[in-house]
Amino acid sequence: MDASIRLGKIFGIPLGINYSWLVVFVLVIFLMSSNFQDMFPRWSTESRWAVAVLTTVLFFLSVLLHELSHSLVALAWGIPVKGITLFIFGGVSQLGHDARRPLTEFLVTVVGPLTSLALALLLWLAWELVGGYNSYLNAVLFTLFAINLSLGVFNMLPGFPLDGGRVLRACIWGATGNYWLATRLALHAGQAIGATMAGGGILWAVTGNFQAVWLALVGGFLLYVATVNYRQEAVRQSLRSHQVQEALSGIWHPLPGHLPALSHEALMALFVTGYTGLLVDGPPYGVVTGRQLTYVNQLSLQTATLAELMTPLSDFPSIEAEAPVFDALEQMEESGSQVIALVKDGRPIGLLNRVEVLELIRNSRRRR
Ligand SMILES: [Zn+2]
Repeated sequence: MDASIRLGKIFGIPLGINYSWLVVFVLVIFLMSSNFQDMFPRWSTESRWAVAVLTTVLFFLSVLLHELSHSLVALAWGIPVKGITLFIFGGVSQLGHDARRPLTEFLVTVVGPLTSLALALLLWLAWELVGGYNSYLNAVLFTLFAINLSLGVFNMLPGFPLDGGRVLRACIWGATGNYWLATRLALHAGQAIGATMAGGGILWAVTGNFQAVWLALVGGFLLYVATVNYRQEAVRQSLRSHQVQEALSGIWHPLPGHLPALSHEALMALFVTGYTGLLVDGPPYGVVTGRQLTYVNQLSLQTATLAELMTPLSDFPSIEAEAPVFDALEQMEESGSQVIALVKDGRPIGLLNRVEVLELIRNSRRRR
């Protein structure tokens, strides 16, 4: 979420407000003000607006506390937190990566709704104790109690991307050990909840309750996020289930190091392997990329041998041939390299570029 106003940091976590939140902020102030007008008709206009603004700011703080609880538990479990952003449909904690164990995911997630429910309980107690003293306290405390209660309950609906969906995933994942099954179920549940809310909201709005438009919008948003996430997870899954050597094409024969870089054999081998690069026989084994060879041509280093040009295998990004494609992509991302060497028993068996990896993913999706 880029279009955000930065609000500084809390516990070292950057806080941001997306511009879309400002729309809600104004909308909520108006809604509260009109509600207070119905409930407390004897309030002056000034005090009605003042209480509406105050309650809205505290509403905003409630959402922030909910997100902060997710972020703090994530940090405690070693997951980096990039920031918290508030946007039109609530808040989001941007974690550096997903939890790698079901228990961690469960704890990081469940703490959010629990925080909201605990706040609701405290606010209800305060309302019982001091709400009777004056109508302002009564209005602020009761409204915030209702808001936090709904935040806690709504977020526990068992469908991704809601907290309840993540809790559901953590439970199925923990029980079956099958991350992909758990994710799929939680995402489908999220789609079902989103579609129901969107459909119900539209029906309700058509039959006269205009505020139900909001329900329809939130439902549509949930449906959209769950569907996009489903596609991403499917790609990730196919990256996990395929071995990196499946993406290897061309015929790879390591060439002797004494060959001149621009010899006929070297150029033919480069051609056969699609210009990705060459393997140099060893030990020490090495890699000459297609890009390096083009460079040689330009610098008129025509007399250089492959051994002189090569990067030793130990200095080149490399991966075991049986490793998941996912790991290869991650490693290319980290090293900033477009090419990675595949290794079997300490010997290079081929080079792979990013395009070939992506091709493998595309083909595996078509086959399904
Ligand atoms: Zn949450």
